[in-house]
Amino acid sequence: MQFCQVIVDIAHSQVDKVFEYSCPDDLAVGSRVKVPFGGRVVEGFVIGVSGAPSFDASKIKPVKYVYDEQPALVPECFSLMRGIAERYRVPKAVALRLFLPSEMRLGRVNEVFTKYIKLIDPDISLNKAAKKQSAALEALREGDREFTPFCEQFGRAAVNAIVEKGGAEVYKVRRTRAPLSGEEEEFHPVELTPAQQRALEYIEQSPKTVQLIHGVTGSGKTEIYLSYIAEVLKRGKTAIFLVPEISLTPQMLRQLRRRFKGRAAIMHSGLSAGERFDEWWRLRSGEAKIAIGARSAIFAPLENLGAIIIDEEHDSSYQSETAPRYSTIEIARMRAEYNGCKLILGSATPSVESYICATEGQYGLVELPDRINKKPLPHIIIADMREEVKRGNASAFSRALREELAQTLSQGNQAIIFLNRRGYAKTVICQDCGYVAKCENCDVSLTYHSEENCLKCHYCGAKYHMLSACPQCGGVHLRYGGTGTQRVVSDLRELFPKARILRMDNDTVSGKDGHYKILSSFGRREADILVGTQMIAKGHDFPSVTLVGILDADMSLHFADYRSGERTFQLITQVAGRSGRADEKGKVVLQTYSPENYILRYAVNYDYKGFFENEVKIRKATGFPPYSLICRVMVTAEEDRAALEVLKEVYFAIDALKQSDEDEFIFFNKMHSPIKKIQGKVRYQVLMRLKSGKLLPCIYDIAVRSSTADALAYVEENPANLS
Ligand code: ADP
Ligand code: ZN
Repeated sequence: MQFCQVIVDIAHSQVDKVFEYSCPDDLAVGSRVKVPFGGRVVEGFVIGVSGAPSFDASKIKPVKYVYDEQPALVPECFSLMRGIAERYRVPKAVALRLFLPSEMRLGRVNEVFTKYIKLIDPDISLNKAAKKQSAALEALREGDREFTPFCEQFGRAAVNAIVEKGGAEVYKVRRTRAPLSGEEEEFHPVELTPAQQRALEYIEQSPKTVQLIHGVTGSGKTEIYLSYIAEVLKRGKTAIFLVPEISLTPQMLRQLRRRFKGRAAIMHSGLSAGERFDEWWRLRSGEAKIAIGARSAIFAPLENLGAIIIDEEHDSSYQSETAPRYSTIEIARMRAEYNGCKLILGSATPSVESYICATEGQYGLVELPDRINKKPLPHIIIADMREEVKRGNASAFSRALREELAQTLSQGNQAIIFLNRRGYAKTVICQDCGYVAKCENCDVSLTYHSEENCLKCHYCGAKYHMLSACPQCGGVHLRYGGTGTQRVVSDLRELFPKARILRMDNDTVSGKDGHYKILSSFGRREADILVGTQMIAKGHDFPSVTLVGILDADMSLHFADYRSGERTFQLITQVAGRSGRADEKGKVVLQTYSPENYILRYAVNYDYKGFFENEVKIRKATGFPPYSLICRVMVTAEEDRAALEVLKEVYFAIDALKQSDEDEFIFFNKMHSPIKKIQGKVRYQVLMRLKSGKLLPCIYDIAVRSSTADALAYVEENPANLS
């Protein structure tokens, strides 16, 4: 008998301890078990075993049940568990859950097994009358048989009888459901360009753990990632490759399957629960060596990691918005350091934060300023929508975009029309002069709240009267947000009655599968124009697309967010990158009410460095991240009273913290959250802007301590959305 240390699978800080049980000698670390706990039986994770108990052995209860499988948790989990629990102040069980497919816990998915039967002893004594039994036994001499058809052939009773007598044995083999095609296709390696080779050599010899590849769209970053992964596999190691929206990029999936075949496990939201679970096991068992997927694939059960790659590293989907609210890059860094391997971040538009790290020398930096074969980046034409309004054009399309569309269609090419729906209908914009209402204290745009008919600043809570006329030009053509996809499609039908149009947005398509179908159909050229929102901006490679129209480029510019400029620059660059990827030159028409805006000017010239230097200056001057930290403690509850009690508790605790360190706080207040109620829960917040992160652990502790059974308090760092 030995003893094991167990973390029980209960997400509560009061039981966030290690408990000891006695267990069989062969129990391995990482196994899942069932243990008696407080009068119940609960699931738990074995995080250690020892020969001797740490206290009175007579008081130690035995483990009730051991799951008969390879230990689910890889050894690295325990180090990461401590890192995550410490950093994000969550119970260790919550940290461990990240490493298991949800289907596995709580036994929600039936694993699919195939049963076989094999011969053990051909000479067992059988009743002479039992002809079927002896025939069955005889048949097994030829080799193992699948159980179900075998029973059909010889009869269930006969088969059971020979098993009972010890003549044969039934065993199970896990059956895996292999999703997605692409494996049949042959892979033809390309020769790397000198720039790609230099990039790989640089990364290889650099002593820095984190490497940033800043390369324009189409510069061959993907090829660099895949070559690096191939090299890592050759050395007998494993890799994790993260992309923001793999289920939306059919070409990427096919490419990966073609190149890595069964060695790649692809974890994406389009898989069924069973498929996800099977892919997970293929990684855990060592059959698959590369985990490919969105954010959560960073927790892939791989040992001996040789590389972690995060493509489109600036993408906001890498920030988890549910507990624990982790940053994927932070977790990836922990794993890279644990394994002594490289973390490669790549983007055409790195986040300001990452690029600062690269220019200041914390990260290695690879620059790829040219497209493969020096193909030019698409030319971006700016259409001034104020002029269109003056000319009496009330449609969603400028003259320039109409003309370019007509030309693209007549040449038999495809076009993408991109609508910016984020922050939609919330910003007030003057159509005559491009004026946008901003907060006097914070220099971010205000958000319209219809229920109170007022404008609010999400950073300081200030309220302003709704405008009836533009304070800048006196004009009365005030518009709330942009045009909807439906309207755009009907305008297009009128302008180009013969064009085949596909529409893709969250309102019209149900499930990721629907998106995938629309994109594949567009990829097969079954339509001429694709109209869509944010989700069509990412990484697609449609060779016949030679025109991209961006409607309402301004809308994200005037987001009530300090990252508005950054988001707009990223979005325009990403969307523009969809045009002219193959032989023909691409064009982009960008429609705006503020053509003089500096962000648009940098974007039009693909001037990332210019944008970056300017942005850094602004962030420094205004004290926004990364030169400060925006921290919000949210309090949500069903009942107003319960929420207010917790809010008070949080507020006074942080206020006490502030008394002892006045200097750290640039801003501090408690208030209603800009949206007071979501899904029936009231929302309050304590909002702060801090000089550094040094008080964060205390603030996390305050949130944990103050939460009650009726009201939850949690911390958000630099939240992407302050509503
Ligand atoms: P990025 O990821 O930077 O947008 P990709 O890796 O997708 O760029 O490359 C852009 C295009 O160039 C793709 O069509 C790809 O197949 C092609 N490509 C990449 N590397 C090479 C190479 N070494 N030789 C020829 N074509 C290449
Ligand atoms: Zn403000």
